[in-house]
Amino acid sequence: MTIRTRFAPSPTGQVHIGNLRVAIYNWLFARHAGGKFLLRMEDTDRERSTPEAVQAVLDAMTWLGLEPDESPVYQSQRRQAHLEAAEQLLSKGLAYKEDKGGTGRGEAVLFRMPGSAMTFHDEIKGDLHKQAKDMKDFVIVRSDGAPVFHLANVVDDIFMNVSHVIRGDDHIENTFRHIALYQALNAPVPKFAHLPMIVNAQGKPYAKRDGDAFVGDFREKGYLSEALLNYLALLGWSPGEDREMMTRDEMIRLFTLDRVQSGAAQFDPKKFEWMNGEHMRALPKEVHREKYLAAIPNAGDDPAYLDAVIDVMQERVKKWPDIPGMAGFFFTEDYPYDEKAVTKRLRREGALDLLAALKEAYTSLDPFNAETTESALRELADARGAKPADLIHPVRIAVSGIPHGPSLFHMLEVLGKARVVRRIDRTLERFG
Ligand code: GLU
Repeated sequence: MTIRTRFAPSPTGQVHIGNLRVAIYNWLFARHAGGKFLLRMEDTDRERSTPEAVQAVLDAMTWLGLEPDESPVYQSQRRQAHLEAAEQLLSKGLAYKEDKGGTGRGEAVLFRMPGSAMTFHDEIKGDLHKQAKDMKDFVIVRSDGAPVFHLANVVDDIFMNVSHVIRGDDHIENTFRHIALYQALNAPVPKFAHLPMIVNAQGKPYAKRDGDAFVGDFREKGYLSEALLNYLALLGWSPGEDREMMTRDEMIRLFTLDRVQSGAAQFDPKKFEWMNGEHMRALPKEVHREKYLAAIPNAGDDPAYLDAVIDVMQERVKKWPDIPGMAGFFFTEDYPYDEKAVTKRLRREGALDLLAALKEAYTSLDPFNAETTESALRELADARGAKPADLIHPVRIAVSGIPHGPSLFHMLEVLGKARVVRRIDRTLERFG
């Protein structure tokens, strides 16, 4: 059997990460099996399926590199085929017309459920059952002539020769109806795999108020599509060995449905941020250089200095747009001082005296590196009966203006003696 999967979103606005994950699993499954990955826009809701909403889906897929293997199918253009299928069911007595609610506004077409209990095997959830009494006949064409989701979805999956329907588990109830429709239309029933939901820390569906929820948010904030792909793939799937950071090829090689968990998967923004940092670190130095050069005008003045800054900042910068705010001070003497940090660390009794003494010690320090700057600072603190922290915080604010950053002594080494001494001096003048 040729494996054919499809992503069948209803474009209604922005693309939620839950939907994107459905696309990713369909894509991984098809690629792993050497099959085809298809796209169908379920764009029959004329009010919500705007051209912008359709474009948002296409953009999200391009950004993530989830290119479909065949041209997308637009459900709105397949109305005739849906209506023909309804006619076929009517002619076989498997559907009937009814004036629902007796409004006199026309007759809807209803599908006749077989009236027996049903079981289907879900590739993720296992065997699922439904009793005959819980399966009522349902509308497949509305009285205004519009085909209903269930009919369109099944007719289009038959048309596209879909072998595996991988979708959110909110569709499990629909699947019983869909299977009955496949059978009535004499079409082979595909395999089904229903994915668990993405939830927040409280176990509730993950939504906008929990943090970034739409693909566009991640893109605009400067996260890497590779990291989002990797993170969402791991949300509910694990390749077994404790693997987390993976390339797209590794994920394709390792992906199987039997390793997808059946329970809800929690989106953890902190963990995602970590993963983005991992993917950034894996990028060649050249990419980092380009990003620094684009973010900070004079970053290229001294290439060796830039490389040293990149090395020391790698553990801190978790996304490209962080660069100016986190590393800008390396490249200008005119860096802003964080007000709160100044109040807390420099305007403290004795802080500037200690800082002045440290400047003296650093002026004659040779060599000037991470080890020597650290031992000089500790010796001075000791001699003055102060804690190392009483110096560590003030010197950081003095040379960078901000209360956080890379390991202090490595940062001092990169800045170099001349800059460090000059910056402490200027800080003393300014706040003294
Ligand atoms: N259009 C449906 C949705 O977005 C998907 C149905 C399906 O994948 O079968 O939920």
